[in-house]
Amino acid sequence: MDIRNFVEEGVASYTDEAIAEDEDFCGCTRCRLDVMALALNELKPKYVVTPKGYAFARMDQLEAQFLADTIVAVRKAMVVVKENPRHGPERNR
Ligand SMILES: [Zn+2]
Repeated sequence: MDIRNFVEEGVASYTDEAIAEDEDFCGCTRCRLDVMALALNELKPKYVVTPKGYAFARMDQLEAQFLADTIVAVRKAMVVVKENPRHGPERNR
């Protein structure tokens, strides 16, 4: 069995989606992780115990309120990271 933060998995999946859709957003690992960290600090974690390798439901099948909170937190974090990337013009992949 595994213990996993359901909110973290949702944020990771939505962050990937949002970054892929935003051509201006730096898609490097550092910026992606900064977005996730900022968003996760805004959201309450939700831990669940799952069988090993269990796949969570897709984002569009999740509870509407959970999805809405995740989208708001990730969008806000993307604005912060876009304005203040933690690196120079070079990208740290
Ligand atoms: Zn970057």
